Amino acid sequence: MSEKVLNGGCQCGAVRFRATNPGTSEICHCRMCQKAFGNYFAALVAVERVEWTRGAPGWFRSSNVSQRGFCAQCGTPLGIMDDDGDVELATGAFDDPEAVPPTVQFNLAGKLSYFDHLPQLTPQPQPEKEAEVNAKITSYQHPDHETADWTQRA
Ligand SMILES: [Zn+2]
Repeated sequence: MSEKVLNGGCQCGAVRFRATNPGTSEICHCRMCQKAFGNYFAALVAVERVEWTRGAPGWFRSSNVSQRGFCAQCGTPLGIMDDDGDVELATGAFDDPEAVPPTVQFNLAGKLSYFDHLPQLTPQPQPEKEAEVNAKITSYQHPDHETADWTQRA
């Protein structure tokens, strides 16, 4: 059986990973996931195996059963590892998040009241202005592909 391999990493490029055989892609509404991601929910993908191909995450023990991985340089949340070794990686940290669409949501008791209204948010009324502003921005973010060498901005 062939293996499916997906790459990803943090925003600054100090930490890169190679994930083998992604499984369930989920969002989790629990309060710890909200806090760990600084967001309304966490998006995570279970993987059979992860190799840290550049650098390594920092870890924060967020509970008696798991640790949260993040880039100690830039702060990007990278995932969660249970004490039994199961790893889930942050969906947005994959080079191609489209490759791992979510299929399930967990811990609905923690769901924020406005979550269900997100698709109805008012769109940017002046998309041409947005493009104009974005054109002036030079990204220092690591690109969404492997790089032989990479020097992250301090
Ligand atoms: Zn980083």
